[in-house]
Amino acid sequence: SREWHLVARPQGWPKPEDFALREATVPEPGEGQLVVRNLHLSVDPYMRGRMNDVKSYVPPFKLDHPMDGGAVGEVVASRADGFAPGDHVLHGLGWREYALVDARHAVKVDEEAAPLATYLGVMGMPGMTAYAGLLEVGSFKEGDAVFVSGAAGAVGSMVGQIAKLKGASRVIGSAGSAEKVRHLTEELGFDAAFNYKDGPVLEQLKEAAPDGIDVYFDNVGGEHLEAAISVLKQHGRAVLCGAISQYNDTQAAPGPRNMVQIIGKRLRLQGMIVSDHDALRPQFFKEVGGWVRSGELTARATVVEGIENMGDAFLGLLRGDNTGKMIVSL
Ligand code: NDP
Repeated sequence: SREWHLVARPQGWPKPEDFALREATVPEPGEGQLVVRNLHLSVDPYMRGRMNDVKSYVPPFKLDHPMDGGAVGEVVASRADGFAPGDHVLHGLGWREYALVDARHAVKVDEEAAPLATYLGVMGMPGMTAYAGLLEVGSFKEGDAVFVSGAAGAVGSMVGQIAKLKGASRVIGSAGSAEKVRHLTEELGFDAAFNYKDGPVLEQLKEAAPDGIDVYFDNVGGEHLEAAISVLKQHGRAVLCGAISQYNDTQAAPGPRNMVQIIGKRLRLQGMIVSDHDALRPQFFKEVGGWVRSGELTARATVVEGIENMGDAFLGLLRGDNTGKMIVSL
């Protein structure tokens, strides 16, 4: 069995040498435990924060210990009631081939209801982030115009599509390549999209949203957030979900220079953490699950094969190699 360790804390952009794939023994289950052979592993932007030795809403990774994160796998041995070999489970001990999981930290998932990897994406944490962020934090209502950054990624692609399905008047997305922009407008039904690398975000956003926006879903921070503050209408809301443009910064980036507009326009900017919204989960499964089954919602994934390529997959996620959810399949 193999598992990925963090062997050095990255300064700025992580390097391949900051991670190492190491040998481990296949565990035996104790009372109340399962051994899971992982099938799909998640790489997520928040993991970059866990590589720094700072207190946050999730503890940092320990050096020379296995990293962890979302995973779906098959139970191969069980000493826990209600779990049998062959069952599929979602759990938090990714970055490894075999995991020893406490049954209370495992959730059974149904391959008939949705493909297993989607429990790490559209039917999982990123999907919930989009759903709760837009509807609860962003107070989205029918007729709103919505702008989302990181729009071709796991969370962003769901935000835009959910907004459309819920009756947005206009949905605009930004992403980092011409191919992603095409995917947004031609395959995901966005009304407009632009490549933020083509020119200033503010100019491109004004052109794409001539009448302004009601909700900004921020995955990126920095220049995007400043531009959105300028284009938000009176009583507009910004959902501060992520700031990936700053995750590899070694010095704090300057804040938006136009904060004074928040006052006159009575804007609300609110941070969110998905785990605060668990009460919404049954509604999320019902509604989003229905859209996935009917084909109204498209959930693309970029799949990297092989545990040995997981470090590269994580670096690729930070660079923007993915369209939709980035998954490592074993
Ligand atoms: P994505 O699938 O969106 O992958 C990350 C994407 O970020 C890349 O594909 C890349 O796309 C984009 N990116 C990288 N660097 C930059 C940059 N400098 N400027 C703009 N875009 C950049 O990841 P997720 O959907 O999983 O996560 C999206 C955001 O949501 C992240 O900020 C994440 O931290 C946050 N998040 C927050 C949660 C919460 O509870 N608050 C929960 C889950 C996610 P491109 O080619 O377009 O540059």
